[in-house]
Amino acid sequence: MRGLLILDVTNDSGRPLPSDWCETVGVPSLTRLRYDSPSADPFLELLLRTHAATLRHVELHRLDDVPAVLLARALQLRSLKCLPCEGLSKLVDLPGLAHIDLYCEGGSDDQEGAAFPPGTLAFLSGASHLRSVKLCLSAEDPDAPLRALSTSPSAQHLQELVALADNEDPPETFVTTLVTPFLPSFTSLRTLIVDDDLEQDFLLAVSPTVLPCLTTLKVDVLEDSCMHGTLHRPAVHDVLMRNPHLHLYIEKGFPEKVMCNDCPWCKWGCHELLAETKNSEVCYSSHSKSATCPKECFQAFSPSNPLHPSNN
Ligand SMILES: [Zn+2]
Ligand SMILES: [Zn+2]
Ligand SMILES: [Zn+2]
Repeated sequence: MRGLLILDVTNDSGRPLPSDWCETVGVPSLTRLRYDSPSADPFLELLLRTHAATLRHVELHRLDDVPAVLLARALQLRSLKCLPCEGLSKLVDLPGLAHIDLYCEGGSDDQEGAAFPPGTLAFLSGASHLRSVKLCLSAEDPDAPLRALSTSPSAQHLQELVALADNEDPPETFVTTLVTPFLPSFTSLRTLIVDDDLEQDFLLAVSPTVLPCLTTLKVDVLEDSCMHGTLHRPAVHDVLMRNPHLHLYIEKGFPEKVMCNDCPWCKWGCHELLAETKNSEVCYSSHSKSATCPKECFQAFSPSNPLHPSNN
């Protein structure tokens, strides 16, 4: 294992991997570790102890708690993916930990829907170097992690926020309703991703005065409507016109094509450049495409002629 940079371990054996699974005296080299196991195996502890000086990216899957004492020594750590857990409070002072992904999947059954542990809330409210945060909002006390993050020294430096729902069938607009009141705390946001429908109050809260740096907004549309019709919803048109630098990504399961060729908008014949485009291939804006735009940037409306896009 000498000189190894990247390691991906999945333990489905039903038994903890022992520390003597490999050589016990190692030289630090690992920069990226993905470890998937239901328990903090002695082998995981050995890896963290051996490579504390070099580890930059760590993903821990299925673990109910992180080996916090060992991770706290990984001073190069830049990103961590783990379940919300008590041990995170011990990582609050890691100087370079900028990206935290508190994903939902794979936790034990009694964790699903449960409130965030106090240790995770302490981390979110105390960490000062966070730049991107992914949260799965749970059914119990769902706005607690957003409130904690909004009061942290990181809040005004946060560049990316991803908010998902930690339950199978959340109430409609569950995520956007929770996120909306906290947006004014995150003034440096460039990317905002919410796993929720285009809720009107949420879209109204997205403005250049509140979020002057926002260039990417990703949302879902839950109903089975034509995407072209969705684009013409007054609130969608409005958010694009008020935010001239915004790229709006609308995730949609089906149908795949942007246009249905059957609704009033499709029959009217506007936006005909989108006729053969798939939903996954395009994002919408109200500006002319420039060198800094993503390749999928499509000017849906233009300020000079807000209802009839200039590139149609
Ligand atoms: Zn249509
Ligand atoms: Zn149109
Ligand atoms: Zn663009």
